[in-house]
Amino acid sequence: MIRFERVTKRYPGGHEALSDVSLEIRHGELLVLAGHSGAGKSTLIKLIAGLEKPSAGKVWVSGQEVGALRANQLPYLRRSLGLVMQEHRLLHDRTIFDNVMLPLIVTGYPPRDAAKRVRVALEKVGMAEFEKAMPLTLSGGEQQRAAIARAIVNKPSVLIADEPTAHLDPAYAREIAALFRSFHSAGVTILLATHDETLFSPYGARRVELSRGRLLA
Ligand code: ADP
Ligand code: ADP
Repeated sequence: MIRFERVTKRYPGGHEALSDVSLEIRHGELLVLAGHSGAGKSTLIKLIAGLEKPSAGKVWVSGQEVGALRANQLPYLRRSLGLVMQEHRLLHDRTIFDNVMLPLIVTGYPPRDAAKRVRVALEKVGMAEFEKAMPLTLSGGEQQRAAIARAIVNKPSVLIADEPTAHLDPAYAREIAALFRSFHSAGVTILLATHDETLFSPYGARRVELSRGRLLA
């Protein structure tokens, strides 16, 4: 489903964030990507979503080489992935409902059906009662659940999350972990970058670890 073939990523300035990484994520797998801060986890995720390009090597997603896609093809790739990125928080000037609706507006979904899809996504993450709320009136855990609803509203077959439990109380973090487990049970392929890996170990996750840009055996 996702394949890294000897991928190296060097940022401008020469810093090597990933060094010769080869990795395969199979259909239906739950993969936990562990590693210290600065190990290269976010970079690996950005390469999958085409937000960065490899300096060497190839990244394949669903049979397509990401680095070979043209700029106008990248939005299609990103829509096929559910992404929960650290820097893409909810928009603060609109309700939870409207935030979750955004990806459907972008894809030109008919408004009537879109509203239904938004409610289904909000129900899945236990946020149905908060649809009219503004993001900043909610707890960190609730905001994170809404961000996950936004990521799954397009029903992606792959869900990728960068530190989805960062800055959450342990109880909220466990809720989020259980949520990913339920998507995994429903057949979604999941990649999670986390330093909170014990949260996911009971769920039969495969674990790989990055250290200073290298994948440990
Ligand atoms: P992690 O997600 O594991 O904390 P990152 O992928 O964010 O790691 O970062 C890996 C390394 O690449 C770090 O040393 C970081 O400082 C560096 N890095 C990340 N993004 C950039 C960037 N846009 N420009 C230069 N260096 C970067
Ligand atoms: P900016 O460059 O200003 O961060 P983007 O064009 O990247 O803006 O994103 C605009 C809005 O689209 C984001 O604020 C967010 O609501 C939504 N968005 C972008 N990327 C993602 C993503 N990976 N997952 C979910 N929503 C996203």
